[in-house]
Amino acid sequence: MIVLGIESTAHTFGIGILKDGKILADIKRQYRPEKGGIVPNDAMEFLKSVKEEILEEALKEAKLEIKDINIFAISQGPGMPLSLHIGMNFAKELAKKYKKPLIPVNHLVGHLSIGLMLTEVKDPVFILATGANTQIIAFEGGKYRVFGECLSIGLGNALDKFGRAIELEFPAGPKIEELAKKGKYIELSYVVKGMDVEFSGIVTQASNLYKKGAKKEDLCYSIQETCFAMLTEVSERAMAHCDKKELLLIGGVAANQRLIEMLEIMCKERNAEFKVVPIQYSGDCGGQIAVQGFLEGKNKKFSKKETENLDINPIWRVEEVEIKY
Ligand code: AMP
Ligand code: MG
Repeated sequence: MIVLGIESTAHTFGIGILKDGKILADIKRQYRPEKGGIVPNDAMEFLKSVKEEILEEALKEAKLEIKDINIFAISQGPGMPLSLHIGMNFAKELAKKYKKPLIPVNHLVGHLSIGLMLTEVKDPVFILATGANTQIIAFEGGKYRVFGECLSIGLGNALDKFGRAIELEFPAGPKIEELAKKGKYIELSYVVKGMDVEFSGIVTQASNLYKKGAKKEDLCYSIQETCFAMLTEVSERAMAHCDKKELLLIGGVAANQRLIEMLEIMCKERNAEFKVVPIQYSGDCGGQIAVQGFLEGKNKKFSKKETENLDINPIWRVEEVEIKY
């Protein structure tokens, strides 16, 4: 079975093609604002402008023609409504034109599923640390459940926001990581509430310290140490609570070597296995949607009406997804 997955929840348009459990193509392009944060309308225009060429490139990479595709899959949500519409309309057009089923999947579950497929872990605690989202998730009682999460902004967005305050370009995560290597610790608030983490106050605090003359390098080091320690603490607690012996790190922030190092130390102390999703597949990509489409589509019966009536779901939480495969 060949599945073509389309990702279009925020700033990335991606198409992944999966055949017999192997990713044949994973092509994506990301909208980058010239200045400041994401402008939803500009992101939408960007996604619209690249969708056709990405489809062409993905098919070429996979050495397939569009008529070879058995199932289309689309990330239905959560995400930014304007971006979601671009992907959904494109997917519906393709499914209709080529008379193939269309599977709507949850973007977050897609992140988890591609992580499981590409690493050897079986039943981990997941840390999903993306731009917009930071969640500690585990599979319990037939569902993915969120054990802890960010109360306001996600870790990636927190780093990007702080980056803007110290005049770094978007995305700031990688630059903060570089600067942090030359920094010393300045105390910042450590905000863990139960199993949840709160980053926005820390961003404000660090940004204010910068205005008062603190060094960029020291603040980068300190924001990383503080936020990553918070995440390490709640992940460890989730592992103890669920009695899980594996930890899997996913999301764009998984590129950060210092975060990896901290989690590695924690897992080693608990005698647990720690894995990171390969970076190409750890941020938003079509591959994650193709993998999820395959899992949900392999035994499903399709109705044409269902496809025609499909709509986006911008606030779809991971616990609401039925896992039936
Ligand atoms: P995603 O939403 O999963 O595509 O991830 C994007 C986020 O990952 C952005 O907020 C980036 O700043 C962040 N990011 C990327 N590379 C790094 C890094 N090396 N360290 C920290 N954050 C990063
Ligand atoms: Mg994502």
